[in-house]
Amino acid sequence: MKKRRGRTPSLLSMMNGTISLVTAKRLCSCSRCDKKLIAGSRCAEQHVYVSGFVNRKRLCLECASEIISRTQKDLDKLKKELKCVN
Ligand SMILES: [Zn+2]
Repeated sequence: MKKRRGRTPSLLSMMNGTISLVTAKRLCSCSRCDKKLIAGSRCAEQHVYVSGFVNRKRLCLECASEIISRTQKDLDKLKKELKCVN
């Protein structure tokens, strides 16, 4: 059996998937619902890894929280399935 090495990886990494809260530096819009995000307002940034570089998707806080809840549900489902195996 292969030995586990280093830190346990997360499905959400700085390279892919993770969402961080940022302050909008200029007017932009949510990539999901097109809501305007004015400069200085709080918004979320999702890191999406695409062919060699990290794409930063702007999201409004509502969309970000929907995505987080959805992710949580998916993870809960996976955890449940894993429990059935062990
Ligand atoms: Zn949105």
